[in-house]
Amino acid sequence: MLLIRDEKTLSKEIDSLRKSGKLINFIPTMGNLHLGHSSLFKKSENTEEIRVVSIFVNPLQFNDNRDFDNYPRTIESDKKKLLAERVDVLFLPDAQIINVVKFAFRLGHIARKLCGVDRSGHFEGVAKIILKFLDIIKPDSITLGEKDYQQLLVIKKIIKDLKLKTEVRSYPTIRNKEGIAFSSRNKLLGKKIFLAKYIPTIFKQINLEILEGSFELRRLNYFKDFLEKSGVDRVHYLEILNEKNLSKVKKIPCISRIFIAISISGVRLIDNVRIESKLTCSRDGQIKIYKDINS
Ligand code: AMP
Repeated sequence: MLLIRDEKTLSKEIDSLRKSGKLINFIPTMGNLHLGHSSLFKKSENTEEIRVVSIFVNPLQFNDNRDFDNYPRTIESDKKKLLAERVDVLFLPDAQIINVVKFAFRLGHIARKLCGVDRSGHFEGVAKIILKFLDIIKPDSITLGEKDYQQLLVIKKIIKDLKLKTEVRSYPTIRNKEGIAFSSRNKLLGKKIFLAKYIPTIFKQINLEILEGSFELRRLNYFKDFLEKSGVDRVHYLEILNEKNLSKVKKIPCISRIFIAISISGVRLIDNVRIESKLTCSRDGQIKIYKDINS
């Protein structure tokens, strides 16, 4: 595995690898690698592609200094995992990479929903670093997890709007046996990890109630209250939105997801899950499964 810290060397190495006829697959991360990350590395393992992984805890996407300082950094064990995964290139840029980031791009309404509401500047920070990485690496494909679903939509938008040739590949969230999504922040929860178990439980319950007939949107308030009464510091949002563009579910049937962000002891967790049937929602907030009479 090549370990590269500066962008010029990375560009040069990638150019020479590309000349040998290989395609470049890029997998950006913030490190503290877990099984969710490994699942992404494995997706392109048996292809002929060169796998480039970046590890960079991007200060531009943290709106809270404490969150940035506390983010788990485990570079030595990450390197070992990447070697075991037989990743070809690890890009470990210095902090000053962000000083040279140019940015003049409108992310639009997708970046203003969900995490965009109370993490001001977060998606602009994500977009800046991703644009920088895409500019250096010019990957043929980028591999992303649905765990950060809103981020996935933002990156798709950047690539589409700038007409870049990078194919976006996205993959489902990997969970532990209790249904908790693997996340680098989980280890910051200590004993309070039990509260994170409520997320998959609530997803299951909402899915069940929708399947059973009708589900009123205001029922989501019940689950928010439940979480806050159970010891979660704050529910930042719990919403059911159209997965294509994060707009509200309306009369026209659409595939949706349940999105949640909560804080436990100051640690923010996000998660989402797809609802497999198409949904409609009436003006008074009744969610129903759409049954196509032709199918
Ligand atoms: P991060 O290091 O948290 O910035 O995540 C790097 C990439 O791994 C992103 O594309 C995430 O969506 C993805 N990812 C994080 N956690 C998981 C998980 N539990 N399952 C699948 N992908 C994940």
